[in-house]
Amino acid sequence: MIDGTRLVILGRQGAGKGTQCVRLSRHYVIPHISTGDMLRSAVKEGTEFGLKAKAIMDGGDLVSDDIMGGVVRERLDRDDTRGRGYILDGFPRTVGQAEILHEITVDDPLNLVIDLVVPTEVVLERLAARRVCTDCGANYSIDAPPKYGWVCDNCGGEVVQRADDTPEAIQKRLDLYERETAPLIAWYEERKLLAEVDGLGAADEVTNRMVAAIDARR
Ligand code: ADP
Ligand code: ZN
Repeated sequence: MIDGTRLVILGRQGAGKGTQCVRLSRHYVIPHISTGDMLRSAVKEGTEFGLKAKAIMDGGDLVSDDIMGGVVRERLDRDDTRGRGYILDGFPRTVGQAEILHEITVDDPLNLVIDLVVPTEVVLERLAARRVCTDCGANYSIDAPPKYGWVCDNCGGEVVQRADDTPEAIQKRLDLYERETAPLIAWYEERKLLAEVDGLGAADEVTNRMVAAIDARR
């Protein structure tokens, strides 16, 4: 990667994508752009867009490609993504979104797309145990809770189970992932941009594997 580290991280819900993206963002000193976090903050702010997004997210559905494309285009237009690069987490999620991203990035194309691979049983367990900070989005679980009660170690925010982590919404999101997002793996493989990384094991080990895959592309 000569100038900048422009990454997309794919992986099913519960693969540990969010946690790993935060770590990579520190390692490479590039912004972590999570479309899920962006949507959740719009929901918190109570904007009209946020209210619409909330209904879609709580049902486990996807926001339309057009709207998400607009959101990401605007975000990638900001200065902090130029030069050093960025990590996209949660986008693209459909082939339509990958095509939009391709257009947005014609001048500064992606360097690598990582698929973080974790078996289904593990994904289901992790999702049921997952808890998140309502303020900063930090991830916890019933096995790895914050130090003091359900109060975020980073920011003091409240740590809760996400509204879309109900069994029904989880099943729907996993089905949607298979149908809409899994085809991106072949799409990026054809374009010689894909690396698969094993998402099992300690968080540090997984980060090291991802860094190795990224640095191998330099
Ligand atoms: P998860 O990976 O657990 O599904 P995210 O935090 O990435 O969670 O996203 C939460 C919800 O936000 C999704 O279920 C979907 O409704 C919406 N969302 C996030 N990113 C996108 C996207 N790129 N396209 C459409 N909807 C999205
Ligand atoms: Zn927090």
